[in-house]
Amino acid sequence: MISALTTNKQEKANLTERNIIHLPGTDCVIKSAASLSAFTSYRVGGSAEWYVAPRSLEALQASIEYAKDLNLPVTILGAGSNLLVSDQGIPGLVIASRHFRSKHFDLQTGQLTVAAGESIPSLAWEAADLGWQGLEWAVGIPGTVGGAVVMNAGAHNSCIADMLVSAELLSPDGRLETITPAELGYQYRSSLLQRGKRIVTQATFQLQPGADPAKVLATTKEHKQHRLTTQPYNYPSCGSVFRNPKTYSAGWLIEQAGLKGYQIGGAQVAQLHANFIVNRGGAKASDIFCLISHIQREVQERWSIWLEPEVKMIGEFQPVG
Ligand SMILES: Cc1cc2nc3c(=O)[nH]c(=O)nc-3n(C[C@H](O)[C@H](O)[C@H](O)COP(=O)(O)OP(=O)(O)OC[C@H]3O[C@@H](n4cnc5c(N)ncnc54)[C@H](O)[C@@H]3O)c2cc1C
Repeated sequence: MISALTTNKQEKANLTERNIIHLPGTDCVIKSAASLSAFTSYRVGGSAEWYVAPRSLEALQASIEYAKDLNLPVTILGAGSNLLVSDQGIPGLVIASRHFRSKHFDLQTGQLTVAAGESIPSLAWEAADLGWQGLEWAVGIPGTVGGAVVMNAGAHNSCIADMLVSAELLSPDGRLETITPAELGYQYRSSLLQRGKRIVTQATFQLQPGADPAKVLATTKEHKQHRLTTQPYNYPSCGSVFRNPKTYSAGWLIEQAGLKGYQIGGAQVAQLHANFIVNRGGAKASDIFCLISHIQREVQERWSIWLEPEVKMIGEFQPVG
């Protein structure tokens, strides 16, 4: 399939001299210098050297093949809700999964099979409407299925690892495989997928159909409401910036270090929840990066604990001395 879509290397190299490339055999367009700030929840960051948002598996495979032919590094972008993209942008090809959509609620098995680009909050509302339990906890996580599987997203004492039946992955060599959660080395907000180059194309979750939709909707609304009152959803952020250490929550440690409200440029430690850094307007990625480094140093000094970022930083950042 891929070879049928592939033009020769010279042809592709010529194509890259223009700003827009149409991948032969697909409805997929690769753009150059595409700004990424609108595609991340922080609303910061530079441009992707090349950007593509495939709508089908064939287009995704063709995009990967294209990057391989031109030796371009590949970065996968979900909803960008756990990413800090450098102001200098991202070299190579950024593949966005946002148009990679499909879903199937199987009433026989109670399983929900969804493509990587589907929105987690939308699925939570849809499942609730149908009276399917199991996704109520996820309603406040503004990511995609792919990002949630990679991050082992979680909230309210539940996480993706608890409900994932299987995930379909695309390897850099174009091979598709279906794997179980046991093969993903799931831990708190972590999976083996964070280290590799495999792309999540689809996931199947086990839910429990047959409940009263009004009840499931009520629980889902409660979770959403709880988050709206305890977390700063009114400014751009990436959610929790740091992983919680075993002993204390990162938010508590940061608050006790007196950092609530501390600001660098447009980036501020949220007043409502100290593990959130919010973009108060006009923040640069470098402001957020400097604030992350500052928090790490202050917490280390006060508590002798080094906070590990949960947010994924992509591109170049200057170490803060
Ligand atoms: C207001 C707010 C609240 C949040 N609350 C929570 C919370 O309660 N719990 C929680 O766990 N998280 C939370 N988050 C963080 C974030 O929403 C989750 O980590 C989410 O799962 C990220 O999904 P995404 O699609 O945005 O992934 P992205 O941020 O786009 O990407 C995250 C990582 O996954 C990789 N990736 C994305 N898609 C794929 C794919 N298809 N294949 C392979 N790799 C891929 C990326 O390359 C990157 O390394 C919150 C964020 C915000 C802004």
